[in-house]
This record gives sequence, structure tokens and C-alpha cells, in this order.
Amino acid sequence: MTKKYKGINTICTHVGELKDEQFKGAVSPLYMSTSYAFEDVEVKRYPRYFNTPNQVALAQKMAALEHGEAALIFGSGMAAISTAMMAFLHNGDHVVLQNTLYGGTSNLVVEEFEKFGIEYSFTEDYSPASFEKEIKDNTKVIYIETPSNPLLTITDVKAISKIAKKHGLLSMIDNTFASPVNQNPIDLGIDIVIHSATKYMGGHSDILAGTVISSEEYIDKVFQLAKNFGGSLSDYTVWLLERSLKTMGIRVKAQNENAQELAEFLDKNEDVARVYYPGLKSHPDHEVAAGQMKGFGGMLSFELKEGLDADLFQKKLKLIKSSMSLAGVESTILSPSKTSHGLLSPEEREKQGIRDGLLRFSVGIEEKEDLIEDIQQAIKAIKA
Ligand SMILES: *Cc1c(COP(=O)(O)O)cnc(C)c1O
Repeated sequence: MTKKYKGINTICTHVGELKDEQFKGAVSPLYMSTSYAFEDVEVKRYPRYFNTPNQVALAQKMAALEHGEAALIFGSGMAAISTAMMAFLHNGDHVVLQNTLYGGTSNLVVEEFEKFGIEYSFTEDYSPASFEKEIKDNTKVIYIETPSNPLLTITDVKAISKIAKKHGLLSMIDNTFASPVNQNPIDLGIDIVIHSATKYMGGHSDILAGTVISSEEYIDKVFQLAKNFGGSLSDYTVWLLERSLKTMGIRVKAQNENAQELAEFLDKNEDVARVYYPGLKSHPDHEVAAGQMKGFGGMLSFELKEGLDADLFQKKLKLIKSSMSLAGVESTILSPSKTSHGLLSPEEREKQGIRDGLLRFSVGIEEKEDLIEDIQQAIKAIKA
């Protein structure tokens, strides 16, 4: 890793910048070449080998952000997740997975693992005991995601790391919802950290990317598979992602602050039945969150009181957009039962606690007064 800086914003702005030796420009030059002369370097540079100048520089920033030794940048969060998992799971191995995973990750496991002879178990809930219960003789990996989507449950990361170490297993986390600004799982004992960089890292809803961060040894293992799977990110998007990361610290801190205010506002609102936000003292995992997170994040969910139409409410919002995905600078809202969790059976949704009227809110960086006003006018409109 390059030089250690104290603050996240310094890492965001400066680690992994390429110097423009030729013209002394302020930003990293972009090297789009897919072909490099052999005499240039002993390693053959090629974008699918994850070793172009821009890829290598951005990987240094990723490693620094998550306090790891090394990183790889992928073409999507799913490319990062699938490659990381498949690098450590072979025919006959078993993996223990948290029950509430990102939909794409569950699909990967349920739709693909059987054909590779990989066994899997989903936990009953997110308590450490429910993970330990699923461990078998052939278990190799424990995979978690916290805060979870859409109910923002908090898995105790240190407890999971401990269980993994006790049983000689590799621990992996999807750290997308927290972002490296709010949670650094390697410091909590996790082996491999994965992000969909499409979310807070990109932050502007215009980049699809992913990253895996770990030790040199584990990243080399992931690389051996990654170069064969071919999921690297184009240098142009690598360059854009570097630019986005410069403001990640200030963006996410603004989103934390807005989400906390909005959660408190919604919690006090008589037309709101429930609010799910780890920053609320009433959240069942608030203490665990406070112990492992530096901020509680920009994601929250809530339910309107019975009789108030959540679909109509979404339609009446003017500033807050009803849309897929999350973590952009703009606030967005969606109904999990109709979108991200629409493919689950009603019984499975019920079991996971995802009610039909639940709304998942990705809080942006707008002025909180404007967001509150938008919610107030939408509630008024549906009650009229
Ligand atoms: C979006 C997302 C992913 C998948 O990332 P893509 O960049 O869409 O492939 C994985 N995990 C979480 C938590 C996500 O939100």
C-alpha cells in the first residue's frame, strides 16, 4: 500500500493518483491503450489482466480506503462478487450465506452453484448463532451483508469474523450499503471486502463497477480466476470512478446526516407506522451498529400507517424520484415488494419481514428541509 493518510477525505482525493509528468495537469491522465510494448514492463500490461496504469492506481485507492493490502476493480458489483466467491469455492465445498442478501447475489448462488457442485446454506436469521449452526465439515466460506437490504438489519461483523477464524473459514462481506466511509470490515477481522462500486463509490448513478479488497495473498488468488473470467473494468470508467471517489467522503457524510434527520422526522410522524434505520436508538441493532460503524449510512426504510396508499405516495412525491438502484447524490425511493424483492413469494417476503407497503429510501445530498417538505406534501396529497 502507498503512504498512510489519517483521514478518509485525503485518501479519497490523493491515494492512487497518477502524476501527469508530461503536462503537469491536475488530474490523473487516462491511458486507454489495450496494447503495451513488451520492453515497457516485465508484466504484460493488458486491461483484462487488471494491470493498466489507471487500473493499478485505482486499486491502490480502493485498498487504502478499506485498509487492505491490495484490490481489484471489476466491471460490476456482481462480477466482483461472483469472481471472489468462485475463487475460493470448489466442487464439493460448502458456503454459509446470510439469508437476506442482495437479490443478484442470491440468484447467483441459487441459479449457478449447483452446476459447479458447490453446496450452500442460507441462515435462519442474521444472529451469529444462526451462522455457526449452518457450518459443516466441507464449509469453506462465510458470506455476510450489513446493513442489509431493505430492512437495514445489522450483522455483528466481529462476531462473524471470530466464528470464521474458529472454524478455519474464509469470511467475506458485501460492504456496499455502508461504504468504506462508514465501515471498514478488515479492521473487524473480515478477510475479503466486496463493493458494488455502482453505489456509494460511483455516487452519481452513472457508473457500473465493483471491487474486491483483501491481503496480497487473497487478491492474487482472486486475480488468477478473474483474468480467466474476464470481468475487468474499462479504463475510461476506471478514470471516472477515480473522479467520483474524490468526493465520496463528503457525499456519504452528507447522506448520513440527512438520513439521520429524515429517520427522526419519519419516526415522529403520526402517518408513519415504522422506520428502519440503524441510527435510531429504537433500532434493535443500534448498539451493534454503533460499535462497528462510523456513520449509520444513507439508506432507510419505512411504512406508512395502515390505510395510506404507499404506491400513491410514491407518485405524489415531486423531488424524491421513484427509481431502481441507490446511493446516488439524488434521493430515490422504491417499493421492495414490487421491485428488488418482487420475485420472492409472498410467504418468503412475509418471513423476511418485508411488508407490501414498505418503502426503501436512498437519501441523497439535497437540503433536508426540501426532502421533508416533499414527504409532507405527498402525505397531505394522499390523505386529501
Ligand atoms: C447493487 C448491489 C450489488 C450488485 O452490484 P452491481 O454493480 O449492480 O453488479 C451487490 N450488492 C449490493 C448490496 C448492491 O446494492
